[in-house]
Amino acid sequence: MELPFAESYRIKMVENIRKSTREEREQWIREAKYNLFNLKSDYVFIDMLTDSGTGAMSDQQWAALMLGDESYGGARSYYNMKEAIKEILGFDYFLPTHQGRAAENVLYSTIIKEGDILPGNSHFDTTKGHIEYRRAIPIDCTIDEASDTQLEIPFKGNVDPFKLEAVLKKYPAEKIPCVILTVTNNTAGGQPVSMQNIREVSALCKKYGVALQIDSARFAENAYFIKMREKGYADKTIKQIVKEMFGYADIMTMSSKKDAIVNMGGFVAFKNEALWKKAQMFCIMNEGFITYGGMSGRDMNALAQGLHEGTEFDYLETRIKQVEYLGARLDGYGIPYQRPVGGHAIFVDAKKILTNVPKEEFIAQTLGIELYLEAGVRGVEIGAMLADRDPVTRENRYPKLELLRLAVSRRTYTNNHMDVVAAALKNVYDRRDTITRGYRIVNEFPIMRHFTVELEPAH
Ligand SMILES: *Cc1c(COP(=O)(O)O)cnc(C)c1O
Repeated sequence: MELPFAESYRIKMVENIRKSTREEREQWIREAKYNLFNLKSDYVFIDMLTDSGTGAMSDQQWAALMLGDESYGGARSYYNMKEAIKEILGFDYFLPTHQGRAAENVLYSTIIKEGDILPGNSHFDTTKGHIEYRRAIPIDCTIDEASDTQLEIPFKGNVDPFKLEAVLKKYPAEKIPCVILTVTNNTAGGQPVSMQNIREVSALCKKYGVALQIDSARFAENAYFIKMREKGYADKTIKQIVKEMFGYADIMTMSSKKDAIVNMGGFVAFKNEALWKKAQMFCIMNEGFITYGGMSGRDMNALAQGLHEGTEFDYLETRIKQVEYLGARLDGYGIPYQRPVGGHAIFVDAKKILTNVPKEEFIAQTLGIELYLEAGVRGVEIGAMLADRDPVTRENRYPKLELLRLAVSRRTYTNNHMDVVAAALKNVYDRRDTITRGYRIVNEFPIMRHFTVELEPAH
């Protein structure tokens, strides 16, 4: 018989997690002002808040930590990271930062002026935050198909080249510091971007004289999907595909807490030496000296090793098959989510489930709270709370999709945990018609409110 699929690793160390009662969870979520970010992690049984920095490092990464060089200038660990970035991604120049948004801060401090335009595919929330904070404007050029959750197409994260060209035509190149291509497209459901699309976007950038930045948190997962789904790539290795992807880019930013499988770290990399030099000042001011930026030597070592492991096919297959496993369980219960399954998470279509909750009362947030109450499973809202208010009118923005993201941490949970998540969601799904009210905001920050917002039940 054909052998079943099994993980490409075994477990060497474990961390205990604790179950709780519904009564306990009701008290804890009330005390957390109904904001899932505010919960103590000890109050969570299965944590799907994010896959960022929550992965399990390998024995090789832990070993690399011990070999970290903590020298202020010119540490060996810096050169290890430099070598890995050159070998795997093909960039000559880089600056280490403490995480992805810090890389954005260094880059955008260098290249954005007030009033600039930054087109791309569904800018990530911190990316959008950094752009709007500088009074520049992100323009979302994602394909329209991305907002139809039930449509099965292989590369739902793509940029619509017509939308992008319309923006590039409308504004002079001096007003467009770069085009931002996010791989995978996190906000649209961890959906990949095809190589053909990367090529098209790059050609448009060249035609209009604009740089291409790849926001690369999940570049390896994107490469896996290209290998599995795009014609002509089945026989290429992940590392070959990655090299081609970044061959089209001028700049990359990376939250290494994702596909480099470290708990903290990131970087911004450049092909152009002059731009790298210009950015150094902002690295020194905000992060640290240019050979460590926001990172310790040991962490740079673990990151370098993580880039190698994160671009191994066996690792990626194990990871993405686990997300697919959860998707298949939800299919069995008829629970709608963004199809096909994305790279790092399942994005449950909350609008299709909680049809009685008005959009003003935060549909996906309400589903997230219900799932937590049901089983101590913590997801995160990708909906009106995250979309925040229009920077000019200050009116709430209501995006087309209200999604509850269930992120799967790398090498962390087993498929038994996925079974619990699916069953808990089924129980909520079965009583969906009884859920008629959501939550209202009591307190919010002027920008990026979702992390700290305080809520109360709307009834
Ligand atoms: C996580 C992420 C970021 C920001 O990185 P942090 O490490 O969380 O600061 C930027 N872009 C994308 C696509 C991400 O997923």
